Amino acid sequence: MLLRIKGQHGISQIFQLHPLERPPPPIAFDAPFPNLGAPDVRINVYGQDFHLHSTILKLNSKFLSGILDDADRLGVGPVGRFKYDYTFTISDDGSCGIVLTAQVVAETRAGPTAASLHQEFESNKDKSSGGATVNTNHQTSDILQQAKDMARGSTHVFSAIYNKDFAITSVEEILDAIRVANYLQIKPPFSKALDRVFRRRPECTSDGQEIQFADLIPKAPFIMLLVAKHLHNRVLFNDALVHSVATWPSIKKQFDNADAEDMKLVGDLMKITLAGYEKLQAKIISAMQILFKACGETAGVCKHLRACADSLNEKSPVTSNAHYYRQILIRLEKNLDDHQKHQNCAFKNAKRAVEGLLKSNLKIGDKAFHNRTRAGVGAYQRKFLCAEIDDKDLPLNVNEQS
Ligand SMILES: [Zn+2]
Repeated sequence: MLLRIKGQHGISQIFQLHPLERPPPPIAFDAPFPNLGAPDVRINVYGQDFHLHSTILKLNSKFLSGILDDADRLGVGPVGRFKYDYTFTISDDGSCGIVLTAQVVAETRAGPTAASLHQEFESNKDKSSGGATVNTNHQTSDILQQAKDMARGSTHVFSAIYNKDFAITSVEEILDAIRVANYLQIKPPFSKALDRVFRRRPECTSDGQEIQFADLIPKAPFIMLLVAKHLHNRVLFNDALVHSVATWPSIKKQFDNADAEDMKLVGDLMKITLAGYEKLQAKIISAMQILFKACGETAGVCKHLRACADSLNEKSPVTSNAHYYRQILIRLEKNLDDHQKHQNCAFKNAKRAVEGLLKSNLKIGDKAFHNRTRAGVGAYQRKFLCAEIDDKDLPLNVNEQS
């Protein structure tokens, strides 16, 4: 089992997993259509073997198509039952690579230094750490963790091109998968496959929590906005924007000390989020005006606003008062019967305005998820979910998606 990283001076080092660490069983993908036969490609991603079909890889990635064609041209012979055998690599700067496994095996024989570093890590694992070994341990465990993460990311990407279902239960997972998809140039099929991930029912994680993709977006809305832009994914962009706008003042603080390089990456997304926030403010002001007007026309509305006054938080930005408007809506709904038959009814206008403010524009998640994501209630007590964006304002080419 091989792990390969680029050393400080650009010299490749190869890590061998400790003999006690058993390699996981290979992940073999079934042919998605008949006559494709058995997998003819093996790709080792940090100890995890994937068995794949060259036809499927070529169909989904120009980059892999080129690599496989090169192998044919150079006449690289089959290894065991696989016609093509590759090892995925990652360097210190995080960039990925893919090399012929035969080449990696040859290098392993030449340099055992990295393998001994790994053994040192293993033998120190149970001892109390101290002194100079700490850094080594830390570095090696980081690399091992990174290896596992990349293997998981690769599983998602390969599942995407085989139309197999997969779940994503952490923000890190999607970032790892994007790294692989980016390098292998499988981004459009991966983005398309996310539609299935968005609709999946909640998964039970190892710590017994139920989680689905929709739960991840409010955890890191701005990162998800970046992910959506990178993948040209319209649906993800929409939901990430709704959550980014809902948490805008605090998100903005994350970029107070951003350098020019970072700003180049996030600048346009910040502008879009700010525009969404301003639209939300305008929507709130407009709803307030309708409520004031209704107060002047019917004592009923006035009475309900007074009754909800305790829910109004004057110290926070107006965009955090969703709970207040939810309380108003509950009261207006309860008393709607008296006004059902009225034409041009101020009471009904007031209700409509508050409803518009509290509606959710989120698209990702199953029915149960949408039932518990309501502005002004529970986790969204202080958040509005009604931000929206026109296609013409998107910083992505929606047509590129497929
Ligand atoms: Zn009325």
